Amino acid sequence: MRIDCKHVWQYISAYIDGEVEAELRERIERHLETCEICSAVLDSTRNVVVLVGDDRVFELPAGFSERLHARLDREFLAGT
Ligand SMILES: [Zn+2]
Repeated sequence: MRIDCKHVWQYISAYIDGEVEAELRERIERHLETCEICSAVLDSTRNVVVLVGDDRVFELPAGFSERLHARLDREFLAGT
């Protein structure tokens, strides 16, 4: 079973915290190797996690992915 970007985003905070099971973790890592968008999401999410510190109930703010996507689209367009 392949996971898509939405799955990665759903589990990304648990992934950063090391709270996903080994099999899922492996799938996420495999996806991240081939997906620039999710790698960027991972980096951004890590930064947010650092900002919120020890808040274990961290969730992506509403609209976070959409804003991030809009930014990524611009950056990809600018880079080509
Ligand atoms: Zn992806």
